[in-house]
Amino acid sequence: MLKGIPVSAGISIAPVLRLTHETAITQAESTTPVDTTQELGLLSKSVEQAREQLEKLKEQTEEQLGSEKAAILSAHIAFLDDPAFVGEMSALIENQQLAASTAVSQVADQFIALFESMDDAYMKERADDIRDVSRRLIRNISGGDTVISYPEEPFILVAWDVTPSETLQLPLQYVRGIVTAKGGATSHAAILARSLGIPAVMGAGDTLMEKVDSGSLLIIDGTSGQLIVSPDADTMATYQEKAAQEEKERQLYEAIKDLPAETTDGHRVHLMANMAVPEESDALIASGVEGIGLFRSEFLFMDRSTLPDENEQFAAYKHVAAAFGDKPVIIRTLDVGGDKHLPALALPQEENPFLGFRAMRISLARPELFLVQLRALLRASAFGRLLIMFPMISHLEQLREAKRLLEQAKSELRAEGIAFDEKIAVGMMMEIPGACLQADVFAKEVDFFSIGTNDLVQYTLAVDRMNANIAELYSYYHPAVLRLISQVIQASHRAGIWTGLCGEMAGDRLATKLLLGLGLDEFSGAASVMPKVKERIRSTSLVEAKQLAEHVLTLSTVDEVVQYLKDKAL
Ligand code: PEP
Ligand code: MG
Repeated sequence: MLKGIPVSAGISIAPVLRLTHETAITQAESTTPVDTTQELGLLSKSVEQAREQLEKLKEQTEEQLGSEKAAILSAHIAFLDDPAFVGEMSALIENQQLAASTAVSQVADQFIALFESMDDAYMKERADDIRDVSRRLIRNISGGDTVISYPEEPFILVAWDVTPSETLQLPLQYVRGIVTAKGGATSHAAILARSLGIPAVMGAGDTLMEKVDSGSLLIIDGTSGQLIVSPDADTMATYQEKAAQEEKERQLYEAIKDLPAETTDGHRVHLMANMAVPEESDALIASGVEGIGLFRSEFLFMDRSTLPDENEQFAAYKHVAAAFGDKPVIIRTLDVGGDKHLPALALPQEENPFLGFRAMRISLARPELFLVQLRALLRASAFGRLLIMFPMISHLEQLREAKRLLEQAKSELRAEGIAFDEKIAVGMMMEIPGACLQADVFAKEVDFFSIGTNDLVQYTLAVDRMNANIAELYSYYHPAVLRLISQVIQASHRAGIWTGLCGEMAGDRLATKLLLGLGLDEFSGAASVMPKVKERIRSTSLVEAKQLAEHVLTLSTVDEVVQYLKDKAL
């Protein structure tokens, strides 16, 4: 079985359409001397054609998917206006008598190599944009079709890579999925596939193209990343059933998309999404969530050897804040260490990294770095409704020190005359048992709590969340964990603040009724699972949920809790 990175959810079964274009732009080099004037003319005509094509595609995209997606095409147009790009091509034609298409491919390959060698994940992905624009220029020069002709029957596109504009030009009535050897969840093509609702698996590896033939039947699971070529009858039947079930659920969720997360007796809670990269904004807004309950800011810092400066962070936070408008966006300050490495900080090797130099402990030890993030967050708060959340707080002094630094950042900005939200709300993750036991104390000093069950379970039960050997012991249904959750929620309500939950438990439908009954105010999980949670909330009453939670708190083991929930909650 083949596997790749799941980038756009959904199951599809259809014949393969292999798209074979080269990995580099390089064309067969012509050795015959060229007519320089003619080649320069071909280049400039092709650039003008490309501009018209892209403007048209941009207009269509803006109508269909909104301005954020259309901006991807503006970036392509900008390359056409960049003298270093097209100018370099003209220079090669003039100075080295190269054919126009050879000049395009040589310059494109240089730019691609340059972008791919960069540290910043965002800049790396600009290589795809160059590939896209350059292929278009070459097709224009050779008089080829800029629109690939697709069959008028269902197909799953299998390619070495797909560019953003190729994704936008896919016939939506026939394309059932996209599978690529290259790429990952944050590439533009992946983001577009999600927005267009096309199931997609990317980064399936270099051998992908050898393993799939055009015309053979393929199953793709955009949630698990699994790919099954030429499935047997049993596998087909299983996946057909799964796909039918998914479709039924999708219709049900679509019907309740714009309805509130409200119980049958009128108790309202809030359903939010967890987010890793700012480019997900549009797709998350379209999914119907009410805001972002956890933006893991550390993803901006990872996979690179230098730290993002204040302006780069500001641009990322502002992008999300502005995209969500008056919907709340909770941005968590840097949470690295543990399993999240940060090459730029050269963190020490530790015996027990999850109990070590992590998250807020690093921010407080390096206030000069923390202040950069706080300033960027505050500046972005002028453009939407941002809330700031501190991770891994165990000691009250840490919270006070973090808040003191936030005040310092505020005074700096005031002195510089830079606008920010003076009333910005500040919350903390509740993911360390010690903090949960002192929830009443912390509740007096923050505006909200968000329970991080992923860590809370490992710290409460002393079970490493990454260790497969003891995975059986890791459960948020452990009565001790449930007691802590209950205590945190109660303490917050007594202090007049609210509590959310942003660990994986928030998206587990089996836990929904229990959490509702424990009094949880906000659930934040993967956007794809939140409709299921909403459906559970809308089909229960608060009275019923409270009775269920009260009983669950009297149970003694994980098995008893799970069995009871299975009997009662689903
Ligand atoms: C958690 O611990 O539950 C959480 C949401 O944070 P992370 O998974 O990023 O540690
Ligand atoms: Mg955590």
